[in-house]
Amino acid sequence: MFPVRGSCHCGNILMDMELARAPDTYQPRACNCDFCRQHNAAYVSDPQGSLAIWIKDQNLSGKYSQGSGQAAFLFCKHCGVLVGVYYSHEGRVYAAVNARAVQGGKPFGPEQSASPQTLSASDKVQRWQALWFSSVNIVCC
Ligand SMILES: [Zn+2]
Repeated sequence: MFPVRGSCHCGNILMDMELARAPDTYQPRACNCDFCRQHNAAYVSDPQGSLAIWIKDQNLSGKYSQGSGQAAFLFCKHCGVLVGVYYSHEGRVYAAVNARAVQGGKPFGPEQSASPQTLSASDKVQRWQALWFSSVNIVCC
């Protein structure tokens, strides 16, 4: 496994990933919905990998839902960085990481554009379950 660490700018939210392949073989998905374009976000995830998110001060972490409202974007209220997006289903958390919160995306391969906003609500969920981390631990201190 390949360990990769990311964080928001101020360090309030840390992310530890274990990827099944070398990081440069991943192509972050640059979502073209309005919200993600405003953040210039591109997402990395690995259903064979795992993700731990550590939140030092939960009062300084924020959640925002848009679109179909099923997933929540996680950001730091202190420095404003969007670190990723997650979705909970039947006790399991699925998540994808904003590649920009990992050394500006440098460890990863070229980005590809993605348009999940064109999918129906149920197709989105299927996509997340197929693509996102499914071993996710969000820890608040
Ligand atoms: Zn921060």
